[in-house]
Amino acid sequence: MYCKNCGTLVDDNSSICPKCGAPMNSSNFSDNQVVDKGGFLWGLLGCCVPIAGLILFLVWKDTKPKTAKAAGIGALVSVILGVIYYILVFVLSIGIGISAGM
Ligand SMILES: [Zn+2]
Repeated sequence: MYCKNCGTLVDDNSSICPKCGAPMNSSNFSDNQVVDKGGFLWGLLGCCVPIAGLILFLVWKDTKPKTAKAAGIGALVSVILGVIYYILVFVLSIGIGISAGM
């Protein structure tokens, strides 16, 4: 990559430019950032275990907002699907009850 300050070609692994000493943004980013990629797997976990998703969301919402959001959304989706499932079962049982009554 190239230094944004002076335009010198800098090694990808360098954290500063050897010519002008300017910090290289991409390296700084990976050094300082907490791993917070969001993530499908956390969403999946939240979906399978809504309680775990909710707890992870509460624990991570300040430090890892994206990951927390993924887990929280997974939990939310799971709860919504559960509610839809029960509504469907309820409606179907009424339907079966009516057709059985006739
Ligand atoms: Zn430079």
